[in-house]
Amino acid sequence: MRKLAAGNWKMNGVEADLAEVDALVSAHRTPRCEMLLCPPATLISRMAARATGDLFIGAQDCHAQASGAHTGDISAAMLVDAGATHVILGHSERRADHGETDAEVRAKAEAALAAGLVAIVCVGETEAQRDAGQTLEVIGGQLAGSVPEAATARTTVIAYEPVWAIGTGRTPTLEEIAEVHAFLRAGLAKRFGDAEGFRLLYGGSVKPSNAGEIFAVANVDGALVGGASLKAADFGAIVEAL
Ligand code: 13P
Repeated sequence: MRKLAAGNWKMNGVEADLAEVDALVSAHRTPRCEMLLCPPATLISRMAARATGDLFIGAQDCHAQASGAHTGDISAAMLVDAGATHVILGHSERRADHGETDAEVRAKAEAALAAGLVAIVCVGETEAQRDAGQTLEVIGGQLAGSVPEAATARTTVIAYEPVWAIGTGRTPTLEEIAEVHAFLRAGLAKRFGDAEGFRLLYGGSVKPSNAGEIFAVANVDGALVGGASLKAADFGAIVEAL
């Protein structure tokens, strides 16, 4: 399976930052892995117009409904129309800031799949949950609740992002990452039969200096990168590590 280096720009980026996309594309014309950048919705179409080759453009959320009276929301079909091929769903910041539940994330993922988008479904424990020994239980619940029945290896990616590792510079040990990723693979296999083709991304303080060792962990098929995806030099170094 080809690995995936995914960047989540979160609420960062304006027109001037598109120069980073040009720099990334010109420096990595034939990367070993696929590259994905997920900018704010305002930049999707402009970024998609500059993306070539193995750089895909995605979104950070979508609404579960196809259209209607939902002020401020964006449907999956609109994202496709803007040039997106992927959408991040159930990121812990959306679960925290907008109270998104597993059921809502699942409904959004169903809408994304129906529109032809690849859904990147995020799971991950808080620090308190890890300290309480509840990591696998929490992740198992999120996986069961957030991933739709229609998910396939081609259309659905799972991102493991420990909440306490996001933007903190802290990461789990390689053993802890291996444990969760093996658990995810086994959970998908139990539910969908064959789980080998599902990409499992690790996210949380991935940077050029730790990318190589994280990507060498069994069942890690790529990364979901926040801060280090904003600059082409940093993200490019992570792409090279895959
Ligand atoms: P950082 O890489 O900034 O820790 O963010 C990770 C993340 O939340 C990606 O979705």
